[in-house]
Amino acid sequence: MTHPVLTALGLTDNESGTYLGSGQWSATKDAGVIEPVNPTTGEVLGRVQASSRADYDTIIERAQAVYKVWRTTPAPRRGEAIRLCADALRTHKDALGSLVALEMGKSKPEGDGEVQEMIDIGEFAVGLSRQLYGLTMHSERPGHRMYEQWHPIGIVGVISAFNFPVAVWAWNSFVAAICGDITVWKPSPKTPLSAIAAMKICNEALKKGGFPDIFFLFNDAGSDLAQQFVDDRRIPLISFTGSTKVGRMVGERVAQRMGRSLLELGGNNAIIVDQSADLKLAIPAIAFGAVGTAGQRCTTTRRLFVHESIHDDVLAKLVAAYKQVEKKIGDPTDPANLMGPLNSKDGVDAYLDAIEKAKAAGGKIETGGAAIEGKGNFVLPTIVTGLTNDAQIVQHETFAPILYVMKFKAIDEAIDMQNAVPQGLSSSIFTQNLKAAEAFLAASGSDCGIANVNIGTSGAEIGGAFGGEKETGGGRESGSDAWKAYMRRQTNTINYSDALPLAQGIKFDL
Ligand code: NAD
Repeated sequence: MTHPVLTALGLTDNESGTYLGSGQWSATKDAGVIEPVNPTTGEVLGRVQASSRADYDTIIERAQAVYKVWRTTPAPRRGEAIRLCADALRTHKDALGSLVALEMGKSKPEGDGEVQEMIDIGEFAVGLSRQLYGLTMHSERPGHRMYEQWHPIGIVGVISAFNFPVAVWAWNSFVAAICGDITVWKPSPKTPLSAIAAMKICNEALKKGGFPDIFFLFNDAGSDLAQQFVDDRRIPLISFTGSTKVGRMVGERVAQRMGRSLLELGGNNAIIVDQSADLKLAIPAIAFGAVGTAGQRCTTTRRLFVHESIHDDVLAKLVAAYKQVEKKIGDPTDPANLMGPLNSKDGVDAYLDAIEKAKAAGGKIETGGAAIEGKGNFVLPTIVTGLTNDAQIVQHETFAPILYVMKFKAIDEAIDMQNAVPQGLSSSIFTQNLKAAEAFLAASGSDCGIANVNIGTSGAEIGGAFGGEKETGGGRESGSDAWKAYMRRQTNTINYSDALPLAQGIKFDL
């Protein structure tokens, strides 16, 4: 029987995974089938027909054709198209949020929150469509004017991860659309139904508003088509969100063809709690950051550095908070629960493997440390002490609710440890000491793309540029001036004099 959440969104349990443009979903039935699983029950949610090579070629050809129209459509008019998408998402927020919760395994408020992020970035993009500013410069030559302008880049390829099955696409595609680009999306094979639903909602809104197809979708049963996508010279920008392992390969291959990549990869985020911290703020922030979305956010808190004078107190309070969470693990669509399942059996295996490695390295399990027997991919949220920051398992991002707690004596030592990992996404400090807060935010402080004071590592607002340094990939998406990644900059010099003065006063007498 088709799940009622699918029915509410007009989806069946046998969907085409390919939007070809011109209102057409592909009829391909021989390119493999993707079967997303409900992580709460282990049941298959539906069948998604994967895309063929011919489907892919049709998409790219149509995207190229529509780009020729879209790039010269005035940007504020492009903004109107995105306004309609945001409005349609608002109408379908409850249903799409439920599907995201069901397919990914996050809680219903988090599923709804993800759709709200799509709406928010849509509205941000509408405003931005009137603000794609370039600078003017003073020419060194008389009778000349210099300025820069930003032009669309072309087709933007989006490859997304399972943990944010729809918001990451909106972050990219809505901003790219107002910049004049066309987006082709390959979502995670773990969450294809959420992607199809989001695509249907937005494409319907565009059609009703009389806009052309600016969003395309394909689903890959393996990774052959995705690989071809990465290598395709017709796609000037690949925006990739996922693991550092796959992202490194994507970045290298795109660079080989001199394309651009925007990489949003793994994190190993830490919170520092100094002796002045307000624990009424710190404890819930740590617990939410480490346990929320069952530890499957790129910004999840994975390491905690606590001043030695308050270490035992903080640990006891956290263990007590975790015991409360343990009582509320279950179906994420039930609002009474605080923690849902891991998205896949692979995720459970990676969690168990990390626990074994932590124990083998001398770690002590303070709470948790086991999978929960029965249906679904449920595990206990876990706190590990007794390891040092340089332990191999602490250096690694395990995409599960495991928190490594460590002590420090001086703030500089804590900042050094927080920076001493390959990743550089999100970081935070809890302190009431101005000097400690400023030291953390200084050039010699946190080396992450996100650094917070008295608020945790997890989650972000769309208004800021989102992303991280080092093995997190260096990309920035969403707010601030992240839009520049989706455009090409052109510098223009205009001579309105009767002379041809050369730059730097060079003479070239003929
Ligand atoms: P993943 O790397 O396994 O998959 C990401 C995407 O890459 C999927 O769509 C997958 O199908 C695709 N892919 C796999 N092999 C490919 C290939 N050879 N060529 C092209 N594409 C290929 O990641 P995941 O398990 O879906 O997501 C979890 C990871 O994503 C974590 O590391 C998390 O930190 C990271 N993440 C980062 C951010 C961020 O903004 N920094 C946001 C969300 C998730």
